[in-house]
Amino acid sequence: MSGYARPSSLDEALSLLDGDGAAPLGGGTDLAGQLDRGITSPTLLVDLRDAGLGAIEERDGGLRIGATVTLAELAASPLVAGYAAVGAAASLAASPLLRNVGTVAGNLCQHTRCWYYRGAEWHCWLGGGDTCFAQVGDHRKHGLQPGDCISAHPSDLAPALAVSGATVETRSGRGTRELPLLELYRRPSADNRSLLTLEPGELVVAVLLPPPPDASAYERLGERAAFSFPLVAIAAARRGDEVRLVAGGVANVPCELDPSDPLAGLPGNPQSAWKRSALATLAERALHRVQHR
Ligand SMILES: Cc1cc2nc3c(=O)[nH]c(=O)nc-3n(C[C@H](O)[C@H](O)[C@H](O)COP(=O)(O)OP(=O)(O)OC[C@H]3O[C@@H](n4cnc5c(N)ncnc54)[C@H](O)[C@@H]3O)c2cc1C
Ligand code: SF4
Repeated sequence: MSGYARPSSLDEALSLLDGDGAAPLGGGTDLAGQLDRGITSPTLLVDLRDAGLGAIEERDGGLRIGATVTLAELAASPLVAGYAAVGAAASLAASPLLRNVGTVAGNLCQHTRCWYYRGAEWHCWLGGGDTCFAQVGDHRKHGLQPGDCISAHPSDLAPALAVSGATVETRSGRGTRELPLLELYRRPSADNRSLLTLEPGELVVAVLLPPPPDASAYERLGERAAFSFPLVAIAAARRGDEVRLVAGGVANVPCELDPSDPLAGLPGNPQSAWKRSALATLAERALHRVQHR
C-alpha cells in the first residue's frame, strides 16, 4: 500500500522524491495500471498537480510546456497552433477522458504496453527476468528494431515533440538539466533495464519547444480511430530545406529515421513484418504533407 502526498511547490515535491521508494504521479492513468499489476510498488506517490508545473508559456519565440499540463489542455491551446504535429498527437492520443487527466510528462514517461510486461503472470526480461517472451511468442504489435527487448514505444506525443525540436527540462536534488527529448530515452541493457535516462528522484518539469517549424505533420495507425494506442506513428517536420522524421511504435524508444530510407535498420520479426509497409506508407504521407507546404 503506497502513501500519498500532494505537495504545493516543486521544491517540496523534489524533497519528497529524494526518499527511497517515492514515485512521481501525474494523472495516474498509467501508474495505476503499473501498481495494479505489481510492476512498481512505490512507498509514496508524489502527486505533482499542485506543484506549479501546469502552465504553457511563450518563451524565446517558442513554448515552455509544464509537466502537468494535460493532453487536453495542450491540444486546445492556441499557443500550439504553429506546431501541427504536436497538436495532432495530443488530440489523437487515448480518449477524451484520458486526455483530460493524463499529463504531458506522464505521457512521455509511460511504460511500455507489451502484454508480457503488463501481465502479472509473466516476469519478462524488461521487468528484470531472463526471457523476452515476445521474441518467441506473440509479437504482432511489437517493434521492428532487433534487441534484447522488442517492445514498441507507445507515446503519441514523444515523436511529435521530438521532431519539432523539443528539449526536456529536468530537476532533481542535484540540479537542473536540459536534454534533447530523444535523449530522455535509452535502450535497455542487462545491467539497467530502464527505458528512460532519468536518475532516481529526477523529474521532468517542462518540455521546451523552439520557434515553430515551417511545416509539420503527424500520422498514426491504430486499431481504431480513437481510444487505441498508435501501432505505428510518424512525425515529420521541415525547417527550410531540412526535413526530419521521428517514429513511435517501431522500436522500444522513439527513433529518428532517415527521410530518404525510413525502414533502414528496422527488419522486424515474422509477425510484425506488416509494420514495415505501414511505416513506409505513413512516412510517405507525412513527408508529402511537410514538403508541399
Ligand atoms: C486505455 C488507454 C489508452 C491509451 N491510449 C494512448 C494513446 O493512444 N496514445 C498515447 O500516447 N497514450 C495512450 N495512453 C497512455 C496515456 O496517454 C498515458 O497513460 C498518460 O498520458 C500518462 O499520463 P499520466 O499523467 O496519467 O501519467 P502517470 O500515470 O501519472 O505517470 C506515468 C509514468 O510517468 C511517471 N511520471 C509522471 N510524471 C512524471 C514527471 N513529471 N517526471 C518523471 N516521471 C513522471 C510516473 O511515475 C509513471 O511511471 C493510454 C492509456 C490507457 C489507459
Ligand atoms: S518485448 Fe520487452 S517488455 Fe515485452 S516481453 Fe520482451 S523484454 Fe519484456
